[in-house]
Amino acid sequence: MKVTRFAPSPSGRLHLGHAYSAALGHELARSSGGQFLLRIEDLDLGRCRPEFVGGIIEDLDWLGLGYDGEAIVQSERTDVYAQALEALKARGLVYACFCTRAEIAQSLTAPHGDAGSQYPGTCRRLPDDPERRASTPHCWRLDSAKALAMAGLPGWTEHDGTLFASRESDFGDAILARKDAPSSYHLSCVVDDAASGVNLVVRGEDLRPSTPTQRLLQSLLGLPEPTYFHHPLITHDDGRRLAKRDLAPTLEALRNSGVDGPGLVKQLLDGRLPLGFRLSEA
Ligand code: GLU
Repeated sequence: MKVTRFAPSPSGRLHLGHAYSAALGHELARSSGGQFLLRIEDLDLGRCRPEFVGGIIEDLDWLGLGYDGEAIVQSERTDVYAQALEALKARGLVYACFCTRAEIAQSLTAPHGDAGSQYPGTCRRLPDDPERRASTPHCWRLDSAKALAMAGLPGWTEHDGTLFASRESDFGDAILARKDAPSSYHLSCVVDDAASGVNLVVRGEDLRPSTPTQRLLQSLLGLPEPTYFHHPLITHDDGRRLAKRDLAPTLEALRNSGVDGPGLVKQLLDGRLPLGFRLSEA
């Protein structure tokens, strides 16, 4: 029985790519007699807006993708993430980082690995300074070298049985709690996947670089290991990513133009994309 989740951030209206991801998660859960959950990833208060939560629910309803139980709302679960962070702090696996974005950008001269802009480690070896922490904005980062020494390099299994190994360059001292938000995507994602019994993480290829760090956190926190399905992304015919600035049609616009929601889901699951779009690997 697969337990899957659709975990959008309410920072805009959903588009075709979201419909594809939700349709796959729903199908894999339902066809195995499992559960399909909805999680609202709204920790980024600067970007997320309550009206988009309503939009997500409306769009899923139109697509005919019913979810089980109540939606999990991350902004209501900050205590749980704080506990997980405390557990890592107690084991000396995180450190306070006072760097600004500009300082980090300046010190990065070489291209970096899959984890994206990797942190150069400026604050890693600073002695803990509670006074500075009390007066200066800071985030908390995972000491990935220490974490890897403790837990080893994690791997993961894709839904088709393929095994993936991680490399040290996949880890970049990820932020676990932000200056402006009580938890980061990585930490809240693994805590919630475990708390809600998700055993198959269905998400786009573009999130694959997050998986090594999330697997490491699962291992450190003693959380169960899910299987992953990193699915191809829907792009415009010319390969451009769907993004608001590219005028990707929102599901709301498709609905308003008379498209049938369940019909669209069936079409997407059959791999028949609407005109002008295609499936491609990240
Ligand atoms: N909230 C993330 C997004 O909208 C998805 C996270 C995930 O599926 O792990 O891209």
